[in-house]
Amino acid sequence: MAKLYFNYSTMNAGKSTVLLQASHNYRENNMDTYLLTAQIDDRAGSGRIASRIGITAEADMFADEDDLFAMVDARLKQGKLACVFVDEAQFLTNAQVWQLARVVDDLKLPVLCYGLRVDFQGQLFPGSAALLALADEMREVRTICPCGRKATMVIRQDDSGHAITEGAQVQIGGNETYVSLCRRHWREAVGDLAAENPEQ
Ligand SMILES: [Zn+2]
Repeated sequence: MAKLYFNYSTMNAGKSTVLLQASHNYRENNMDTYLLTAQIDDRAGSGRIASRIGITAEADMFADEDDLFAMVDARLKQGKLACVFVDEAQFLTNAQVWQLARVVDDLKLPVLCYGLRVDFQGQLFPGSAALLALADEMREVRTICPCGRKATMVIRQDDSGHAITEGAQVQIGGNETYVSLCRRHWREAVGDLAAENPEQ
């Protein structure tokens, strides 16, 4: 039975690598897949999903106004599909997550979404909130904090390594970097940790 999956993680957990590997496994068995990724700036044309370890694949890009049910339906008319993969799923709108749910229910195609759960301020992304509500199955793509605990949070740093605590949810083309941390060290980095540290 087809399902809507949400594979969530924090930054730099390798979710695009997991996505590309999963898609590759289908294609290796002569089953076609359809890849989508978010258009997060003004670049036109076809998109690309790239992993940090160097593998890439062509993907169609979606913007807020795109109807993903219509895009998948149009792609199906060109040939059979085994599965739909969506990278940067945190940027889906609520309506687009419902469109993907219709792909699963009405077109009987599995849809695997990969995205960040929370932003640098610890808030759910809109697409992630909708996926947490609607997905049939959720899996965590794990990574670790430098302390060894599971990283669930992310900080945005300026080029001198200071945590930035304000600004837009999506920053395009800046010099900032992102570091994944456990919640405790995230709180320390953003200046929200009690003076007493009974544990350490
Ligand atoms: Zn930590």
